[in-house]
Amino acid sequence: MSDLMSPTQAAEAAQQHHAEISARRDAHVFDTYGRTPLTFVRGKGTALFDGAGRAYLDFLSGLAVTSLGHAHPAVTAAVAAQAETLVHTSNLFITEPAVELAERLARITGWDDAKVFFAQCGATANEAAIKLARRHGLAQSKEKFRVVTLEGSFHGRTFATLEATGQPAKHEPFAPLMGYVDTVPADDPAAMTAAVGPQTCAVLIELVQGEGGVRPTDPEVVSAARAACDAHGALLIVDEVQTGIGRTGPWFAFQHEDFTMRGLVPDVITVAKALGNGFPIGAMIARGAAADAFGPGDHATTFGGNPVTAAAASAVIDTIEDDNVLALAASRARRLVAGIDALVGDAPFVTGVRGRGLLLGVVLDAPVAKAVEVACRDHFLIVNAVAPDVVRLAPPLNVTREEVDLALAGLRQALVAVAEGTAE
Ligand code: PLP
Repeated sequence: MSDLMSPTQAAEAAQQHHAEISARRDAHVFDTYGRTPLTFVRGKGTALFDGAGRAYLDFLSGLAVTSLGHAHPAVTAAVAAQAETLVHTSNLFITEPAVELAERLARITGWDDAKVFFAQCGATANEAAIKLARRHGLAQSKEKFRVVTLEGSFHGRTFATLEATGQPAKHEPFAPLMGYVDTVPADDPAAMTAAVGPQTCAVLIELVQGEGGVRPTDPEVVSAARAACDAHGALLIVDEVQTGIGRTGPWFAFQHEDFTMRGLVPDVITVAKALGNGFPIGAMIARGAAADAFGPGDHATTFGGNPVTAAAASAVIDTIEDDNVLALAASRARRLVAGIDALVGDAPFVTGVRGRGLLLGVVLDAPVAKAVEVACRDHFLIVNAVAPDVVRLAPPLNVTREEVDLALAGLRQALVAVAEGTAE
């Protein structure tokens, strides 16, 4: 809150600032995103500041991206140093930051034979994985190009990843699609087994469906996918775009015990979002035979492995290790889950919490998630409705105890306001 203005004056100033920026946006920026009535000008740690200097608690982290908080000093310093040294060469030349990041990614996956392809975001990392699987499949048979995905999944908005996204409403405006995807229910191991056949080159799955409503995937489905891929020479691709870099606990969701104890290791993972803590970078990481499936000329992108974004990502990984952030996040997740559990029966609508680590969904008994999201903003808390009855929380992994408690208090007030019909 600004010291120099009364709350009413600050609200008016923020509104005025937002109105001015939105009018300019309406003139020249495509209308593809929703119209949230807020404009932020600055971020620090878990806080975002509006045009009047009012602080909002960011419990969404820019859609699970700013996992070390906004403007983390180590990331900022790495970017500044690299920007002064070398910004871009294209992939005609190798640069050290990209190699150093690939080495770090190999270490945190635990895959000695890992090979990394650098992309710009989640969708382009998944595009790379789909192309890799095709290359791997077509080398076995010219019919082997189909991909199996799960209903409710989200893999991106490019043409191939849109089709892989198991949400028909997102397909309809762009039909016809390419017809290379077979979609199966997310909770049916037998359907997974049945869907994978000689024409399948890959199964592409999330281990927690983030955009699909914060739904952990049943290990039995993953197990069925792994067995079917092995039986048919297909690749198991795990989309870790939202779950990766510690969001659900370990570095990657596939490293949770319920998968590792069953020996479930993917052939390929994709990562983006939190990898650059806000700097746009994605990566496809492959092991085993998949790591040899691309050759020169098979795939490329001008900015992939750009030295500045690679330096940002290496700083993210180093900071998480140096500051023991994964352990810290586990403790904050316990506090947040306990706090949400305590809202059951105490605050309106809340029936429970699901998800893993700090990727959590507050489950409601009515389709009021959007209203709760709006009411949270009235209480200076950023969250989002990821389903009609689920509010997603994805705070920074280094969120403080006090911030967790503040967010829980804000959420409670928002729930009460919605129940009383007083939310603006
Ligand atoms: N995959 C998953 C699991 C995601 O959650 C997302 C984005 O939300 C994507 C892919 C697409 O990533 P991007 O928006 O960076 O292209």
